[in-house]
Amino acid sequence: MLSDEELDRYARHLVLRQVGGPGQAKIRSTRVLIVGAGGLGSPAALYLAAAGIGKLGLVDDDAVSLSNLQRQILFRTADIGRFKVEAGAEALKALNPGVQIEAHNLRLTAANVMELIAGYDIVADGTDNFATRFLLNDACFFARKVLVSAAVTEFEGQLATYKGHEPGCPCYRCLFPAPPPPGTVANCSETGVLGAAAGVMGSLQALEVLKEAAGLGSGMAGKILTYKALTADFRTARLSKDPACPLCGNAPTIVALDSQG
Ligand SMILES: [Zn+2]
Repeated sequence: MLSDEELDRYARHLVLRQVGGPGQAKIRSTRVLIVGAGGLGSPAALYLAAAGIGKLGLVDDDAVSLSNLQRQILFRTADIGRFKVEAGAEALKALNPGVQIEAHNLRLTAANVMELIAGYDIVADGTDNFATRFLLNDACFFARKVLVSAAVTEFEGQLATYKGHEPGCPCYRCLFPAPPPPGTVANCSETGVLGAAAGVMGSLQALEVLKEAAGLGSGMAGKILTYKALTADFRTARLSKDPACPLCGNAPTIVALDSQG
């Protein structure tokens, strides 16, 4: 049952026939872990807190810097120097005190990822490095968690939902079997990123999380969306499960988190 305060706060959700009280109750009972409180995690966290996700976890071990503020809209100028998860948790609680916020001031590793994601239903990956991206993909596969993954660089973004543990659904390694060699792919501090493009992708990520939480529409599992901001071009392509995938294929070579090369 929703309280009087919730009926008012979520009124625009409740009048949506496809959401209504049952959908809002599902959103409230869903636990989401956002990995990376950056340009993607900021809008994703704000929209998910505003939407009334029951429990929202934030993972990041970084502090807010001046150059973050161009896109990381979870933070204010006065937050510079504070830990991102601490400033972020405060902002999210101020937005919606009904959401349980968990701040995880740490870097994900093979040693801590399984225990961390065990407390959540959906993982939203907004990190900017391949090591964490592959680690999260593998961990979500073994823990049978839904992974909604967003990426952005310069003027382009990508979005996909991975459920490699389900029959016929690809994982991230079906697309990219292994991380690129270190140093071969530039990160956002080297290439730059238009702040609002990160906002588009983080908002889409929040939306796909809400669809998964409330069972709305058709999800993005088995699809990949590409956004090109300069031409305002959205494209969705099918993504198949790779029978030769080292993680979710027919003869997997990765059978535990520490077995990857
Ligand atoms: Zn796979």
